[in-house]
Amino acid sequence: MNIKEVHDLFLKCKSLSIDTRKIEKDSMFFAIKGENFDANTFAQQALERGALFVVLDNASYVIDERTILVENSLETLQELAKFHRQYLKIPIVALTGSNGKTTTKELINVVLSQKFNAKATVGNLNNHIGVPLTLLSFTNETEIGIVEMGANHKKEIEFLCEIAQPDYGYITNFGKAHLEGFGGVEGVIEGKSEMYKYLLENGKVAFINLDDPIQIEKSKKIKSFTFGLHNNFADLNVQTIEANPFVVINYNGFFVKSNLIGLYNANNINAAVAIGSHFKVENTDIKSAIENYVPTNNRSQLLKKGSFEIILDAYNANPSSMAVAITNFLQLDNQNKVMILGDMFELGNESQQEHKIIVDSLKNQDKSVCYLIGKSFYENRISNENLYFFETFEDFSDFLINNKFTSQSTILIKGSRGMALERTLDFI
Ligand code: ATP
Ligand code: MG
Repeated sequence: MNIKEVHDLFLKCKSLSIDTRKIEKDSMFFAIKGENFDANTFAQQALERGALFVVLDNASYVIDERTILVENSLETLQELAKFHRQYLKIPIVALTGSNGKTTTKELINVVLSQKFNAKATVGNLNNHIGVPLTLLSFTNETEIGIVEMGANHKKEIEFLCEIAQPDYGYITNFGKAHLEGFGGVEGVIEGKSEMYKYLLENGKVAFINLDDPIQIEKSKKIKSFTFGLHNNFADLNVQTIEANPFVVINYNGFFVKSNLIGLYNANNINAAVAIGSHFKVENTDIKSAIENYVPTNNRSQLLKKGSFEIILDAYNANPSSMAVAITNFLQLDNQNKVMILGDMFELGNESQQEHKIIVDSLKNQDKSVCYLIGKSFYENRISNENLYFFETFEDFSDFLINNKFTSQSTILIKGSRGMALERTLDFI
């Protein structure tokens, strides 16, 4: 069966799924092999649960005309997504970068939804499976698509751009994330820049943050829509007013008071404002979309617990996002500041060095007590009156049982996903 025929069948379905537990009636099920399982074995179950068609790549599980046998289900999913993208003929805005993709994606979505029937990546479905699923979730009713693209190796963004064929692209930043897979910061820059390469070669438009010199440098010759703080050359002037703790920005005389914490979020907000402005969303609508957006999922959330004010940023961490979170926290006016920081994962050979940089950045300040948790921080422990090191989370939680923070403390919690530092909330 060729891809057009698979697409014709797909159009008869109400949705698409790769997980039998989430299967909906009249959907198309793709049996994809995972590391620990072979979804081909679920073909029968998928049909029983209401799938109209099952695409699979193991002949032993073919049942009847409802099962479509292909060479490789994953590759067929990717081809189908590309075919569907061309069929839809809608503008697609893609974004990648080391940090802030999901936050920016959500902001762009709320802004563009003021004017269009916009649809965006759900959650963090941003890889070689997530991007196809995202594209296949767009329908004839969708007027504009927003696609988050993640990568931890070179050539991945190039591959995802070939599938999604974005008309617009934005790179949030070039930071120190996934250094292991990319082989260092230069590798990150090269890997993320694959999006610029795609936009240039196809005459598409990049949104460029003029406050980031690497973005300016790497996006030369590309058609662009630029924005920046205090920058008179930008297509859109946006200015950060404060981040104490919530970010407030001003553009075209509109003050936008966000629910996002951390100066780094100013870039994310500015990008969403710029994209909204480019698509001619009314200024008042951009303002209200951003003001009504409240982050979830442990991403820079402000919580109250007893007398404590907690900035929960335990969703993820890498050297760049850790550094900006620390700088931002130290700038807050609050008294009794406490930082609870967990190890940063996936740094390969640079792990030792990057944890040391963070420890060094903390040793000469006296604004905050710092608890550093995890093997890598522990290996870089030093003796310092404001720094406390714990090899495991259990050591830290034992400590918390007998030691309480001063009342009215403001607490920053940040670490890699694997550290699951939101567990701290159960002990304070
Ligand atoms: P993932 O790689 O998990 O998909 P992401 O790029 O989608 O991450 P977010 O989930 O939006 O990023 O944010 C993760 C964390 O990155 C935030 O909690 C914050 O600490 C940090 N961060 C967000 N935006 C920026 C930015 N523009 N620059 C630096 N750090 C940022
Ligand atoms: Mg994300």
